[in-house]
Amino acid sequence: MKYDLIVIGGGPAGYVGAIRAAQLGKKVACVEKERAGGTCLNWGCIPTKSLLRNAELFHLMKHRAGDFGFKIDGLSYDWEKVIKRSREVSDKNAAGIEFLFKKNKVDYVLGGALLEKAGEVVVKRNDGKTETHEAANILIATGVIPRPLTGLPFNGKTVIGSREAMILEPQPKSMVIIGAGAIGVEFAYFYNAFSTEVTLIEMMPNVLPIEDTEVSQALEKALTKQGIKILTNTKTTKAETTKRGVRVTLAGLDDGPAVLCDQGDTAAGEECALGYRRRHLDGILQRGLPA
Ligand SMILES: Cc1cc2nc3c(=O)[nH]c(=O)nc-3n(C[C@H](O)[C@H](O)[C@H](O)COP(=O)(O)OP(=O)(O)OC[C@H]3O[C@@H](n4cnc5c(N)ncnc54)[C@H](O)[C@@H]3O)c2cc1C
Repeated sequence: MKYDLIVIGGGPAGYVGAIRAAQLGKKVACVEKERAGGTCLNWGCIPTKSLLRNAELFHLMKHRAGDFGFKIDGLSYDWEKVIKRSREVSDKNAAGIEFLFKKNKVDYVLGGALLEKAGEVVVKRNDGKTETHEAANILIATGVIPRPLTGLPFNGKTVIGSREAMILEPQPKSMVIIGAGAIGVEFAYFYNAFSTEVTLIEMMPNVLPIEDTEVSQALEKALTKQGIKILTNTKTTKAETTKRGVRVTLAGLDDGPAVLCDQGDTAAGEECALGYRRRHLDGILQRGLPA
């Protein structure tokens, strides 16, 4: 097939470009290897907001129901449903983009695109077929993927990226989150609201380091009050997968190294005491596996 424009990647950058070009009368295809909507709708902005809404409601009911005149006995939750709702919200949003493709006559091609020759896009379709399309213009909108830390490769179970963190079942008893940017903070809030013991580690002096310091400090106070352990000015120097989980070694950036905590006898699935000294933070945390 010959197109005016082939967009590679169906995330917010790609689908908007594809739909707009089609509305302007161009013949357009969008090649997407997973699902229209990309990271944002399927594994980013949208599903995390759904999880955060759950966390917000649960937190409110648990801690402030009385303020609103509610009396709640035996408040509990169904973790599987919490995750399922988030997936359903994503699914609806992605289906909305697929509808817009259809409505605007964008050819939606499910498969991985390869560029081998100028003006040509080879697609290894998800149904196993390979096809080649010609295009006068090609828009590459392939987004980004999570980057593991050196010495800490993802294993999909105990060392994970944001995608797995959205669908973790069963709920983990404890979790170390490395990086207190927007994504790290969102997951910290979500898991902490449902009583996973969360330790949030950040190399910079504040959480949300690229925001205004005043905002970051206010947020850090609020998150700490909610029970999240926050270690700023702290770097991860080593992480080992053990039988019980992952052991993370930390170093404070403004003090010399010191080993503070190595809970060798922690029962499987149990969180250990997190030992740390103020501003002197080279520690070893032994975190539990999901029960
Ligand atoms: C957990 C999380 C939470 C986030 N929350 C927010 C938020 O609240 N607000 C906000 O503004 N941003 C948020 N973001 C960031 C946001 O998701 C990204 O900025 C946005 O998705 C980038 O859009 P994009 O189209 O450039 O790339 P993507 O959305 O990543 O889309 C790229 C698409 O290209 C596809 N692709 C890659 N290679 C190929 C190939 N060879 N062939 C075919 N298809 C290919 C991928 O499958 C993917 O679907 C969040 C991100 C994450 C991970």
